Amino acid sequence: MAERSFRAELVGSFSKGAEGNPTVAMIEAAFRHHGLNWRYINCEVEPDNLGDAVKGARAMGWRGFNCSIPHKVAVIPHLDGLGESAAIIGAVNCAVARDGKFIGENTDGKGFLTSLRAVTDPAGRSVVMFGAGGAARAIGVELALAGARSITVVNRSPERGAPLVDLLNGKTKAKAELVIWNGTYAIPSGTGIVVNATSIGLGNGHVPLDIDVASLRPGMVVCDVIVDPPDTRFLRDAKARGCTVVDGLGMLVNQGVIGLKYWTGLDVDPASMRQALVEIFGR
Ligand code: NDP
Repeated sequence: MAERSFRAELVGSFSKGAEGNPTVAMIEAAFRHHGLNWRYINCEVEPDNLGDAVKGARAMGWRGFNCSIPHKVAVIPHLDGLGESAAIIGAVNCAVARDGKFIGENTDGKGFLTSLRAVTDPAGRSVVMFGAGGAARAIGVELALAGARSITVVNRSPERGAPLVDLLNGKTKAKAELVIWNGTYAIPSGTGIVVNATSIGLGNGHVPLDIDVASLRPGMVVCDVIVDPPDTRFLRDAKARGCTVVDGLGMLVNQGVIGLKYWTGLDVDPASMRQALVEIFGR
């Protein structure tokens, strides 16, 4: 009788307070779709235990793991190296076992870029990006590395806005400037791509961004990072103004696709993954 193997390959995530983590459903949908004997295990890890968690993943032969807030920066000293954009961003959301070493990558911005590239190439374009937190940092760096000509960071607080603009000007070829967002913002007419990378709209699809909606023009590509709900007021306004829109589900799905490529070496089909998210968040 042929020997049967019950050994599954393991990946997972280290998170905190991530009850019902939608990434589990999304990644496991890809495993099922492709008939892979892999498991994605979401572990709640207290910040003080993060180093032990990484050691545990190493000891158990995990092929990699995702990290979510508050572990994205704190995990770096526990890893063996960083990919290019993760090093510039200063945050890791995906670790990958390569030659026995855990290398930290940042797939948030890469996922956004894949989603954006389905409708336009950011090379040479002018970008307006609302927000300067973790998501904005990852997106801004990837847009700059992809050749965006200019990035206007529009953020409420200078404390987060200024370091991001300094980072983009210092470490990439894009020209970045900061606009403090303290009144209704009108998007300049030469703008090609507009991104909401704030948490405005999270949990409430009716909340507007404080912008002059009439400054959204046909031809602009308008993107949102929000997944819950994905059909945000910002995207509905942009669609009504004739803009091309890109929702946050695409970013989430594609960061998963990129992570799975790193871990398994396979190009997985994003459709089953998006469907798993639509079942959770609607669309
Ligand atoms: P952070 O807390 O790091 O940053 C939040 C940003 O939103 C800051 O720039 C903050 O401005 C701004 N902001 C929040 N509330 C307001 C407000 N009322 N008015 C103006 N600005 C505001 O969060 P993250 O960057 O980690 O996440 C942002 C969003 O991106 C979240 O909703 C998250 O779910 C989503 N996300 C989506 C992903 C995807 O795959 N689709 C992946 C990662 C994140 P200030 O600096 O002034 O406080």
